[in-house]
Amino acid sequence: MGEREEDRDNVGKLFEDFVQSSTCKGALQAFNVLCRRLDLDPADNDIFYSSLKAKLTSWKAQALWSKLDKRMSHKEYKKGQACVGTKCLIIGGGPCGLRTAIELALMGAKVVVIEKRDSFARNNVLHLWPYTIHDLRGLGAKKFYGKFCAGAIDHISIQKLQLVLLKVALIVAVEFHINVEFVKLLEPPEDQENEGIGWSAAIRPADHPVANFEFDVVVGADGRRNTLEGFKRKEFRGKLAIAITANFINRNTTAEARVEEISGVAFIFNQKFFLDLKEETGIDLENIVYYRDNTHYFVMTAKKQSLLDKGVVIHDYIDTQMLLSSENVNQEALLCYAREAADFGTNYQLPTLDFAMNHCGQPDVAMFDFTNMYASENAALVRERFGHQLLVALVGDSLLEPFWPMGTGCARGFLAAFDTAWMVKSWAQGRTALEGEYLQYTIDPGTRYPNLNSACVRPHQVRHLYISTELS
Ligand code: FAD
Repeated sequence: MGEREEDRDNVGKLFEDFVQSSTCKGALQAFNVLCRRLDLDPADNDIFYSSLKAKLTSWKAQALWSKLDKRMSHKEYKKGQACVGTKCLIIGGGPCGLRTAIELALMGAKVVVIEKRDSFARNNVLHLWPYTIHDLRGLGAKKFYGKFCAGAIDHISIQKLQLVLLKVALIVAVEFHINVEFVKLLEPPEDQENEGIGWSAAIRPADHPVANFEFDVVVGADGRRNTLEGFKRKEFRGKLAIAITANFINRNTTAEARVEEISGVAFIFNQKFFLDLKEETGIDLENIVYYRDNTHYFVMTAKKQSLLDKGVVIHDYIDTQMLLSSENVNQEALLCYAREAADFGTNYQLPTLDFAMNHCGQPDVAMFDFTNMYASENAALVRERFGHQLLVALVGDSLLEPFWPMGTGCARGFLAAFDTAWMVKSWAQGRTALEGEYLQYTIDPGTRYPNLNSACVRPHQVRHLYISTELS
């Protein structure tokens, strides 16, 4: 074998290691090794993708480039020039933060994502709507995860989805930092000496290099507990709703593969099932979903009385926080409840129901209250301080909390990612937000919201969202 061929094989192997990596840290490490080997620096975000592409020419790499090239050819990105010079900080490396990061990078923006956790550890499974599947395929999801939505499968575990998106994000030169927590925005300094210094973030650890990153766009994608200020939250109060999620080990046997999944939307209407379940086990549910993915994943909405009757919840409190506090929940009984419901729901066909472990090494069962769901009243605002403008936007659960059993988390979350990308594009092109365009919600409004009335928001209705201390 010639020296050049050997070299190509080595590089191909490093690329394969990156593609196949199965953890967040593993992907970051494999990517660093690959970049070092190819003498490429993702900080050169404007040329990074094309340089990587030129140096990786295996058929496998080319199959990915052709997918990504196709996506990049969308006219909205203006050949990667639509947001050149725009610097964006994204808070949170969940599916929606990463999806937004990719869109912004495709438009040529410099994008930095900070994620406070150090791993992708959520077994829970997200239902994907057809357009999200199509979108992810277009980003090459199948190249990274061969089993992605094979056949009729329309779901993916949160951790797998994050991993696929992280890999795409790295390839398009998004900078991704784990173990970095956003604390608050820091205004540009007032003094003349530091006149050129713009908006930055206070983070933990404070001495991390991201603390020096100045940006003109910040996107809150940190989930339901959004930390960015200035977003009034609307509360949708429904009737008491207690969700239980449970993950069991999937050993991928033929017997397991034969068990039918339960798609929530259809199942809600099967009243006989719920009556039979109650009669046979005393478990009273409003809905149940079962997906076979990395794990056998169940999410169900349980009625309070049956949780009390089955000894899962010890005392009855009106206050839901007290009701579901760890002191008031019998963990063993909760595990039995979840297992029994899963067993009945699958007609006792799953051979073993051993709990998968969560990132703390505990059986992966959780009980949440989602009686109140939150939505932000506004999707974006602008801050101005000492001549420095900052566009602040929310996406994903930060913007609008989903109703899990309907699987709306990612579907709506990705729409918000596109909306934000569209807004950042307008922002970068110098249109002022108050022209009314900034509440346009799509990157291609005509295709996704055909009934949108573009006159529904008037400049005077959003003027208060331009927060400036400048003298006018
Ligand atoms: P998330 O996925 O919540 O991601 C937010 C990210 O931001 C997280 O990685 C978090 O670590 C990070 N973060 C938070 N604060 C900071 C900070 N200050 N600085 C830096 N990073 C930060 N949906 C379903 O459809 N089915 C389910 O079973 C289901 N279970 C869920 C269980 C849990 C515990 C949670 C939190 C959510 C669940 N969801 C479920 C919702 C679903 O995960 C989201 O709709 C989906 O992941 C899209 O969310 P996102 O990217 O907006 O936010």
